[in-house]
This record gives sequence, structure tokens and C-alpha cells, in this order.
Amino acid sequence: MSEEVPATNLPQTEKQQHARGVWGWWHGTPLYLRILAGVILGVIIGVALGERAAALAIPAKLVLRLLGALAPPLILLAIIQALMRAEIRGKQTLRLFGLLLVNTLVAIAIGLLVANLVRPGAWAGDTPPPAAIAKMTAAPVDPLSQFLDNVPKSIAGPFTDDGKVMGVIFLAVALGVAMRRVRYHELRTVDDLVHVGLSTLIVILYWVIDVVPFAVFGVVASIVGVKGFSAFAALGGFVLAVITALLAQTAYYLLRIRFGSWVRPTVVLNGVRDALVMAFSTGSSTATMPLTYACLREKVGLREQSASLGALVGSNFNNDGTALYEAMSALFVSQLLGGSLSLDQQFMIVLTSIAASVGAAGIPEAGLVTMTMVFNAVGLPTDYIAMLLTVDWLLDRCRTAINVMGDVTVSCLLDGKEPEAGAHEALIVE
Ligand code: ASP
Repeated sequence: MSEEVPATNLPQTEKQQHARGVWGWWHGTPLYLRILAGVILGVIIGVALGERAAALAIPAKLVLRLLGALAPPLILLAIIQALMRAEIRGKQTLRLFGLLLVNTLVAIAIGLLVANLVRPGAWAGDTPPPAAIAKMTAAPVDPLSQFLDNVPKSIAGPFTDDGKVMGVIFLAVALGVAMRRVRYHELRTVDDLVHVGLSTLIVILYWVIDVVPFAVFGVVASIVGVKGFSAFAALGGFVLAVITALLAQTAYYLLRIRFGSWVRPTVVLNGVRDALVMAFSTGSSTATMPLTYACLREKVGLREQSASLGALVGSNFNNDGTALYEAMSALFVSQLLGGSLSLDQQFMIVLTSIAASVGAAGIPEAGLVTMTMVFNAVGLPTDYIAMLLTVDWLLDRCRTAINVMGDVTVSCLLDGKEPEAGAHEALIVE
């Protein structure tokens, strides 16, 4: 069984890669460097302008609005496409979904546990950040805030009763331009229709991601200007907590592999090293998918069926790193706000994080898009996701590697306790 990587899920469109001039230079510079530049400039301007930097939070608000608007249809189409394309049959598939669910639940539990223990959100000290953020968002920015009001909060927003005409125009322009690329795509099957819809949304998502460095610059400048550096201490704690939790999840995977399959954990780690490095460097588990499959087949020696079920089919649904990250982010922000989430709310986070991780496409920053839904579900202000943008270039890479490691684990477990006859010898001869 083989499944090709949808071309639209690749990190950069061909046109972007061939662009020249300033545009080409902008796209040629890796996103994390652009974001880092945003952070550094933001700190300098924030210190220079002080409280006046509050208005600079506008681009971040814009990016969040757009991400929030894209989230529901992206999740919907991603899940529909994954279900439609997956070759699902037999007992193994049932096992696959059982394993995926257990692993995701463990990831979320680890995330919540570490966030509850480390409480990185409390590292900010006693100046509560909400005031700062409230100030940031309530900055006197008339024409701009009017413009922002017209940016749809969700793709369906402009069509609701209180929808604004400007919102419809906004949407029409975005969809119209994005669909130019797929206008000659033949629509013969329902699969084609869903594919064109998802490709179009992903094109728009990449435009939004292009604005992220500006958003990071603005949000850093306004936080540093209004509130100083204490919020960043908390962010440092958050990064540490997330990395600790991801490492704990890795330990869990290795134990599961050790006791649930015939493969030794060290052999697995060695065999899939290239895939993990690729996941970390591209931030895209979908782009890494073919390499994960090849490593599992050729270097680890798994059966064709287990490698393809875990790495090709499972990969569409399995994003444990993303689930863990979304749950931790929600808890972190609630701690920043001075409180903690109740058990009920944490349960709600578990449910929405599962949905959000399944719906997150395997492309860079997809987790941030679906995070807006997790925050909305427990009534957390999505403005705070802007703060996470500053560290997401790093954490996205880390969670992508864990997403891939999750696919690897499931493949090994599906392969069972006995190697395929001859597989072991073939590998040793190599
Ligand atoms: N970048 C991740 C992946 O490709 C998704 C995410 O943003 O969490 O798996």
C-alpha cells in the first residue's frame, strides 16, 4: 500500500521557491530566522517606545483572527480527506486506532501533569500580565481597529446574521486569489473536491504564516514596552516544560516499543534518525512521511503492512506532540492569567486537544491554527496565542519530531513481537 504526499501539503509552493527580488529573498530566508529577527527587533523597539509600543500588537491580532478563521474548515477538510484517503480495512486498522488513541491520551496526560507541576505560567512574577494584554488590545487605534473588525473571525462568520459585507469581500478576494492556482484542476470525484478545498485553504494559511514574523515583532515590542521582560521568564519556563514533557513522551514510546514489539529501541532510534532530523528541520510530518516509511522498511525492517499503516495512514490522524503541546499551552495561559483550570475544564482540554491534533495538518505551525479552538472551548483569550508565536518556531520542530516518533511507535507495535521471517538477517547482512 502506498500513499503519495499531497503536493499542497509541502512547506513551500513551487512559485514561492522560484520567486525573485525582495519577495524571493523573504521566502528564501528560513521562517525561524525571520521570526528570530522579529523577536530581536521587537525587544529593541519595545524598550525604546515603552508603553507606546502597545499599538504594535495589531499585526499579531490580525494573524490570530486569520488563523482562527481558517481553523474550522481546515480541521473539517483535513479530517474528511484523511478518512476518505485512508485505506482502512481489517482487524489491524482497529488496533491502529486503539493505539493512536492511547498514545494521544498519554501525551496529553504527560503535558497536563508537567504543566501542573512546573507551573511555568506562574514564573512571570507578581505583575499579572492580563492588564498588559488588555492594554495592548485596547490601544487607541481607530481606523486600524475598524479594519480588524472586518476581518472575519471564522470563515462562516460573514454569512451569519451579524456578518459584515466587508468580511464577505475579504473572504472572496482571499479565496479567489488562492483558487487561481487550482482553477484548471479537474473535478471528477468527491475526493477531488475536498482536495481542492483543502489545497486552497493551505495556500491561504501560508500567506498568514508569512505575516507571522511581523506579528512576532509587534507582540514582543508591545509586551516588552508595556510590561518589561517578566513575561519572557514565564515563556522560558514554558519552553522547558514542553521539552521535558516531549522527552517524557519519547521515553514512553521507547518503553512501549521495548515491551510491545520485537524491535530494540536503540535500533529504532538509529533506523529512523534521518526521519526525525527531517521532521525537526522541516517542521512538517507530512513532508517527512515518505522518509519515515522508507526508514521503517529498510532500516528497521518492519513488515510493509505495519510500516504503511503506522507511517502513512496513522500519520494523518496521529499528532501526539501537537496534542501534548495544545493541552500544555492552554494550562500555561490559564496559569499566566493567575488561575488554574478546573478538572472539568482540563477534561474539556483533553477532548478538544484530541480533536485539534487529529485536525492539525502535518505542516509547519498547523498546531497554532487548531489551538484557537482549544482556547475557545474553555473560554481562554486567544490573544495569548500571540505570545506563543515567539517560541513556536522551536517548539513546532520539537513536536513535529514527536509526531513522527508516534507514527514510528505505532508501526513497531503493529508489527508485533515476531520479526518477519528473514528481515533480521537481511538487515544484519547489510
Ligand atoms: N508541524 C506539525 C507537524 O507537521 C503540526 C503542528 O504544528 O503541530 O506534524
